[in-house]
Amino acid sequence: MDLKKNIGIFADFPKAGISFKDINSLILNPKAFRYAIDEMAKVAKALDANIVVIPEARGYIFGTPLAYLIGAGLVPVRKPGKLPGEVTSESYDLEYGSNIVEIQKDAIKPGDRVIIVDDLLATGGTMMAATKLIENLGGEISGIITLIELTELGGRELLKDYFVHSIVTYP
Ligand code: IMP
Repeated sequence: MDLKKNIGIFADFPKAGISFKDINSLILNPKAFRYAIDEMAKVAKALDANIVVIPEARGYIFGTPLAYLIGAGLVPVRKPGKLPGEVTSESYDLEYGSNIVEIQKDAIKPGDRVIIVDDLLATGGTMMAATKLIENLGGEISGIITLIELTELGGRELLKDYFVHSIVTYP
């Protein structure tokens, strides 16, 4: 199935110069959504993970059915101030400014094998921050799976120490 037919492309969103890839039309189509999750699961099953980490918010959409299919637990990575209890944070640079992401300290145990799932890999900054959160708690990264990869933005190079798999690529 050609998933690109189900991905919307919006020029100059959310700001001038950005070609935004919109997965909402894909998840609206039950066949395309199921196909995307099944393709992710084929790869995820071989990674022998017990935890799927899902960055807020679109990582939830793909990571949740994937965790269900492979029989893994789910751990959200969220924006600051959203998670109760003890948390650990990482900040990372954006084109303009920076972002902070958090995880609950007791969510990852030493020896956990973790897959991180998101909708899209661009510069890799979000993923890299997630790997640090997990590794700082003693977890091991089994792999990184995204629906879309923007290959010219260098995410794969930044994440060269990890197994990275994407279902659809754009330059
Ligand atoms: P990165 O940190 O530069 O790799 O950017 C990836 C993050 O930004 C992901 O969490 C995406 O949800 C979001 N993102 C960046 N560009 C797009 C896009 O074109 N469509 C949807 N999400 C995007």
